[in-house]
Amino acid sequence: LMDIHSELASGELTLGGVTLGKEPLFIAGHCTIDPKQPNLLYETAEALKEAGAHILRGGVWKPRTMPYSYQGDQKALEILVEARARTGLPINTEVMDDDQLKLVMDAKIDMIQIGARNAVNYSLLRKIGAATAGTKTAVLLKRGRPMAPVDEFLAAAEYIAAAGNPNILLCPRGTLPSIDGYRNHPDECITQLLKEKTWAAVVVDPSHSVGRARYVPGAVLAAMSYGADGVVVESHINPSHGIGDDPKQSITPDVCRQLFVDARMVWEL
Ligand code: PEP
Ligand code: MN
Repeated sequence: LMDIHSELASGELTLGGVTLGKEPLFIAGHCTIDPKQPNLLYETAEALKEAGAHILRGGVWKPRTMPYSYQGDQKALEILVEARARTGLPINTEVMDDDQLKLVMDAKIDMIQIGARNAVNYSLLRKIGAATAGTKTAVLLKRGRPMAPVDEFLAAAEYIAAAGNPNILLCPRGTLPSIDGYRNHPDECITQLLKEKTWAAVVVDPSHSVGRARYVPGAVLAAMSYGADGVVVESHINPSHGIGDDPKQSITPDVCRQLFVDARMVWEL
């Protein structure tokens, strides 16, 4: 991000009780909230809070490759808001259009996610930057697909900052083409380059980068060793009962508990 916005940025960014740069930020939760089973999210949220997560994620609307796959449901937003009320954890979800943006702003969402598929949707970036300007809502911006160059990634963030919100978290999430056995081509290492080029925080998404639950812990530690300010991890109390990416790539809150301890150790190195 250009230096002009370092003035807009109030200096320190504190989210979920974590001042970025002072300790690692752990965002975790469902890929997708199942509106038919709200208790799954409530259980995940309670367990993640116990495990040391700072922010709860949960997909309300989902960008699915196939139009016949589950696309999300506005009811899931109420469930996410209720999970925040029960745990005190701030909440994050992805928005893809104006209507969704209005609904999450009415719900006083703590963090808006811009997905990889919308990472260069400049009118959406501008609208989200403007809608969140002067609010406490931060923006998690995923790296664009298939393989957004670093400068394009930073320029996308620039749209949000220029529209008025400098509280942006840059989120590498793997690139395409993928490596055999992985969902994408893991790109945790891009963190170092991003940190050199901007003052914005970098919060890596190892879940979509590797796309397999068993590979996620290693990728989290890699992100930490590359100097990430935090991670966003898909986690589910009972992954096989989840929808969207949860059965394949979510780790349990139990796994998160030890992983967050280990991640903090690596981050402190
Ligand atoms: C997600 O976070 O569930 C998601 C859809 O991510 P991405 O936009 O990186 O594919
Ligand atoms: Mn997902």
